[in-house]
Amino acid sequence: MPHSTAFDDVYFSRHDGRAETEHVFIAANDLPRRFREWRESRPFVIGETGFGTGLNMLCAWACFAAHAPPEARLHLVSTEKFPLDRNDLARALDAWPELAERAERLMSQWPEPVAGVHRLWLDDRVTLDLHLGDSVERLALLDGQVDTWFLDGFAPAKNPEMWRPELFAVMAARSRPGATLATFTCAGVVKRGLAAAGFRWRKVPGFGRKREMLAGELATPVVDRRRAATPWFLPPPPRPARHVAVIGAGIAGAATAAALARRGVAVTLIERETPGSGGSGNRQGALYVKLAAETNVQSRVYLAGLLYSRRWLEALDPERTLWDDCGVLQLATSEKEARRQSRFLAHHSLPESVVHGVTADETSRLAGTQIFHGGLEYLGAGWVRPAALCARLAATSGITLRRAEVVDVAPHETGWSLMLADGECLSADQVVVATAALANRFMQTAALPLQPVRGQLSCLPLPPGAPTLGRVICAGGYVSPALNGVLSFGASFSPHDTDTGIRQADHAANLAELEATLPAFMAALREAGARLDPAHLDGRAAVRAASPDKSPYAGPVPDAKTWRRDYAVLARDATRVPDTPGRHHAGLWISAAHGARGLASAPLCAEVIASRICDEPMPLEGALVDHLHPGRRLIRELITRQTNG
Ligand code: SAM
Repeated sequence: MPHSTAFDDVYFSRHDGRAETEHVFIAANDLPRRFREWRESRPFVIGETGFGTGLNMLCAWACFAAHAPPEARLHLVSTEKFPLDRNDLARALDAWPELAERAERLMSQWPEPVAGVHRLWLDDRVTLDLHLGDSVERLALLDGQVDTWFLDGFAPAKNPEMWRPELFAVMAARSRPGATLATFTCAGVVKRGLAAAGFRWRKVPGFGRKREMLAGELATPVVDRRRAATPWFLPPPPRPARHVAVIGAGIAGAATAAALARRGVAVTLIERETPGSGGSGNRQGALYVKLAAETNVQSRVYLAGLLYSRRWLEALDPERTLWDDCGVLQLATSEKEARRQSRFLAHHSLPESVVHGVTADETSRLAGTQIFHGGLEYLGAGWVRPAALCARLAATSGITLRRAEVVDVAPHETGWSLMLADGECLSADQVVVATAALANRFMQTAALPLQPVRGQLSCLPLPPGAPTLGRVICAGGYVSPALNGVLSFGASFSPHDTDTGIRQADHAANLAELEATLPAFMAALREAGARLDPAHLDGRAAVRAASPDKSPYAGPVPDAKTWRRDYAVLARDATRVPDTPGRHHAGLWISAAHGARGLASAPLCAEVIASRICDEPMPLEGALVDHLHPGRRLIRELITRQTNG
């Protein structure tokens, strides 16, 4: 029976926790009927304060499975400031054998205790977003709206910090019209708080020995003023999305297509070559990120992306045929980098299970070869077979792969027309552009700056008996543990170069980098008879795309002409923010500028786009969603024009 010593309170009733949940949260919110009658294309959203053991959410999921029509979807959003560790969670949930399968699904994806949003796929129709952190703070950052609240958390008398007036206010601000709520408590502070925030409540019979509890609904909808300072980021109103065309079957496009198909959207994935033939075409690529010493929004996006990619890969390919979370060592090969890493460790309170510092002895032991530098070890990171991953994603049920080149896109009355190079024309409700350095070739996307960056990977077939590596190793470049007897390393980085021919000079530079980073390993390879000669290496060169600020673009395509007109005043006075919402090319989206980190950014960006298209809560806090907005540069340009006079 889980009991919190910090709060001196129980997680659920000692008498019968499940029956209590059914009574207090499920029945009092009338969920069996509401699920049965749910006909919207968007998911039904439940918001909760205090995830605890997850019992409430598992019961809601079971109730949804029993009552909802087959095409309905459920989205669970729950906050938790003190997440249980996986063992305690397992012990607590052991009490409910009838929920064992669902509990297993939850535990297999249980996130690291990192503040922020963690998206879990519970099944094909049910998603759980765990917002780790304080309820009030996390709900303030939530980009999404809720249909029903489970107002849980330890008793108000024992946990007054959570049940403060701001909690009810932020719940109201994140509620859909008509949102309901239920809570086990009848405390005065809750009744007063709810009423002040615009909720109507009534006392109803409580569970077991508790005489009364509260149920209610939002009586006075609240205007969400959050975007008043950044009206350009207001999301475009939802539109029909029965059929979406995704252009480009690299990791960005293929992941977006799969994310949409999972939501029941029919997807045409259009690719001029084969899936993963561009920058995502390497046989092996590193899944890792380089986080800033002092955290910033970009770094938070990449950390969230890394954690999401790992969970997503685990769900997609539990057998690990496409990836390996062997861990990544980021070596401190210079004094400057060593200082940066020390600052990083001092500034971040990330769990050891995500990233921690290692000495030179430890890097040597972990890599299996002598290394003269310490560094950081990212435990959940590793390598992926991007080309194979793209092919697997493109084969997702609900996706039709079409080999064609799109030369133009144009809106029509109800959606978009796509003109193909062969003269044919396709129609779709909405379009996602995911063509890396070519993503701004359309008239509507032309204002988004993209820089092409050539990268060449080198591949060395290893002779029998040659040593390999226990970790992916990153310094100037990266090298992965050998896959099927071939060692992949690189990649070169040549901005503004779009040539994809193999160059011996690039192979030589990749070899020199490897020699400088891992001299002992190179000597052992030589001894084993490996031919470390640029002329004998295989390889692959491709063009990736980067944005000026090196963060991806993931979101709706801004109508640049109207932005420059509507927000022109910012160039004179950046404090005079007009209240005009940002206008977009309605139904046109972009996922691009993933640079060399697409494995860590593209899967999460796919969720960002699919969630917006399908009118769901977002998988990242609002500020990070805004940071990915493709229009951010247009606003920056206007504001810097002012500061530059
Ligand atoms: N809903 C849970 C379940 O189904 O198991 C039981 C919730 S338990 C009674 C209360 C939970 O609220 C605990 O897990 C606790 O850590 C969490 N909590 C307490 N204060 C919080 C706060 N300020 N923000 C977020 N979570 C909080």
